[in-house]
Formats: sequence, C-alpha cells, structure tokens
Amino acid sequence: MNIHEYQAKQLLKQFGAPVSDGRAVLRGDNAEEAAKSLPGPLYVVKAQIHAGGRGKGKFKESSAGEAGGVRLAKSPAEAADFAKQMLGATLVTKQTGDAGKQVNRIYIEDGSDIETELYLSTLIDRGTGRIAFIASTEGGMNIEEVAEETPEKIITVEIDPATGYMPHHGRRIAQALGLSGVQAKQCGKLIPILYKAFVEKDMSMLEINPLIVTKDGDIKVLDAKVGFDSNAMFRHPDIMELRDETEEDPMELKASEYDLSYVKLDGNIGCMVNGAGLAMSTMDIIKHYGAEPANFLDVGGGATKEKVTEAFKIITTDPGVKGILVNIFGGIMQCDIIAEGIVAAVKEVGLEDPLVVRLEGTNVEKGKEILANSGLKITPADDLEDAAQKVVAAVQG
Ligand code: GDP
Ligand code: MG
Repeated sequence: MNIHEYQAKQLLKQFGAPVSDGRAVLRGDNAEEAAKSLPGPLYVVKAQIHAGGRGKGKFKESSAGEAGGVRLAKSPAEAADFAKQMLGATLVTKQTGDAGKQVNRIYIEDGSDIETELYLSTLIDRGTGRIAFIASTEGGMNIEEVAEETPEKIITVEIDPATGYMPHHGRRIAQALGLSGVQAKQCGKLIPILYKAFVEKDMSMLEINPLIVTKDGDIKVLDAKVGFDSNAMFRHPDIMELRDETEEDPMELKASEYDLSYVKLDGNIGCMVNGAGLAMSTMDIIKHYGAEPANFLDVGGGATKEKVTEAFKIITTDPGVKGILVNIFGGIMQCDIIAEGIVAAVKEVGLEDPLVVRLEGTNVEKGKEILANSGLKITPADDLEDAAQKVVAAVQG
C-alpha cells in the first residue's frame, strides 16, 4: 500500500524528521488561503499522485500549462493559479505509464532554498533479508540512471537486526552523502528516525529523493515516497486511514476486497490459477507460446465458490481480456468448487471470450462433470502445455 507525499511527510515529522510546513488541498478555491498560511516568500505547488517523476512530468491537458507537477510560485495567488491548473488534470510521468494519473490533491509547501540534492532510501534487501539504506550524492535526478551509469556513486549500508541501528551506520551514511560537520550530525539524527519509522510502521520502502542541504546549511526531507507491507496493515489502522482508493486500480481494489492476489497486466489472456507458483509458471508458459497474460491471479488454497465467482468476474470484466485460461491443480482447493464458481460467474456476467480449462487433482471428475453439464462453451485441456497452446491459438486465431 502506498500513501501520498504529504502524508508520508506528516508521518516522518511525527517521528522527528525535518520537513517543511505545508497544506494539502482538494479544491482550487482553498488554495490561496492555504498558501497564505505559510511563511513564504517561495511556495512549492506539488501534484499528489502515487507516482514519482512529477517534476519532469507533463500534463495531458494544455489548460494545465507546460510545466510539470512540481512548480515554484512567488505568491499565494500564483500558487493558487498553479493548483487550479493542475487539479483534475492528468499527469504523465515515467512511472505512471502512458495513461497518466488524474491529480485530485495538491500539496502546497513552504519553499526551500536548495544548496544540494541528495538521495536516500530505505528498503528490505531481499538477498540478505536485512533493512538497508541506499545513499548517493546524486539526488534529485533519475536514480535508475545513476545506478546504471555510475553505480559506484550508490552506497548501501545494511543494518544487522541483532544490533539494530548503531551510530556507525549514521556516520557511514553521512560519509556516503558527502556530509561533514553540522550536517553529518543532523544526518546522524535523521537515520535512526527513519529506521524507527520504517520498522514501527512496517514500511516496505521509504525513498527520500531529494534529501536536501538548504542554503542555511540544514538537511531536510524534500520529497518522500513510502510503501507499506500490505500484509501488516491490519495492525496499523492509522495508516489504513491514509489509503486513497482513487489511486488504485479498480479491479485490484475489488480483488483485495475478496482477499484475492491479483495484479493487472497488459496482455490479453486472463488467468485464474491456484497457488502463486503455478500462477507464475502459467504466465511463463503463456509467454513461451507467444502471448501475454492479462493478469496474475491466485485464488488461494481454500477458496469458496463466492471467491472463485468474484475472481472470474474480475477477469471477464477486464476489457483487455480476449481469452481465459483456468489452470487449477486441486489440492486443498477442490476442482468442483472452481467449476461451480465459474458457472455462477458466467450466469451473472456472461461469457464472450474463449475459455480453456485445465483441471487436475482433488475432485477433478466432479469438476469436469459440472462444467460439461453447464452448457458453457469450454475447451478442455489435458495439461499445462496443452492448455497454454490452446488459449494462445484461440486469442491469436
Ligand atoms: P518528483 O519529481 O516527483 O520526484 O518530485 P520532487 O518532490 O522530488 O520535486 C522535484 C524537484 O523539484 C526537486 O528535485 C527539486 O529540484 C524541486 N523542488 C521541490 N521542492 C522545492 C523547493 O522547496 N525549492 C526549490 N528550489 N526546488 C524544489
Ligand atoms: Mg523526488
């Protein structure tokens, strides 16, 4: 789960991190007053979407102006003009894809005078299973490019969970950021704050790009992108309140209501599979035969008929889907439950696309019987390979 920049900054502020004062606005009419309550004379007007690269982004609508999603204003009136231009417009950045994202919230922040822009992030290193800080003097710009062209400029510092944060971690990160003196000291204060926030709030990623040194010589969090471990959100009702469902894919949202592991993809073969491993290999074999999956969908082990029905409905309502592959290896999951779910869903929403079904395992005969007696037009498949070839042929043929 992700949150907006202004929410991330409020959260980090609660832990004691240095951030600027700012106001979030939902309506252009409130923007000038919001800006007036800030000290000025510089105001930063920032589009709030769950994607980075806003500064270099472009709006689809010409009415939103030529500049990107982060703009500097010299007066509250100008800040309000920018906010009004951006609200409701669609911002396209490197991270949004071509469709872009509609801007529904604006953050107006007290502007900072920047001396240098640095990069700092915290994540869980899957290789070592440890929390790691990634630091670079090359902040503000595209960190992916830095990683590719000058990887020596990116320094990783891992935290041993047995010791937790230790002052030497802070010193090493300060050094990696090229900081000394007062700023190194401030960095030494900031790192344990970020570490605590990361651990306590079950974050999966915390990216500060840029962390800045101001002209006055202080370090400050100028941008903040935070993702949380969705599986841990049950113990963070305060974070759940920050969820902005308008930022999420409507089908993924629907799937999460039914506790389905669903990720929308760009291909045209909808997949309904049980088990994450089988779902991955199903996607692989579809690609192997020259087509692309429209989604990842794991209905899980002990799914009910209702859950299967919802899963099938989500697949059939995706306009990108031109063919469906159901691939079930019944263990705890019973093939007849899957079959009943499919039949129930088709009764509700109909079925226009070719459907290939491969069932194997627990209650397979019962499952096949239900499908055979349903009157649905189904192409049965013997195994995974056969199933993949048939569904690819169906969408391409
Ligand atoms: P992103 O483009 O989505 O990563 O948004 P950021 O919050 O990182 O802002 C993009 C860029 O705008 C930063 O790298 C800064 O160069 C600039 N910027 C943001 N806030 C300020 C500010 O308070 N003062 C100045 N002078 N520039 C800012
Ligand atoms: Mg940024």
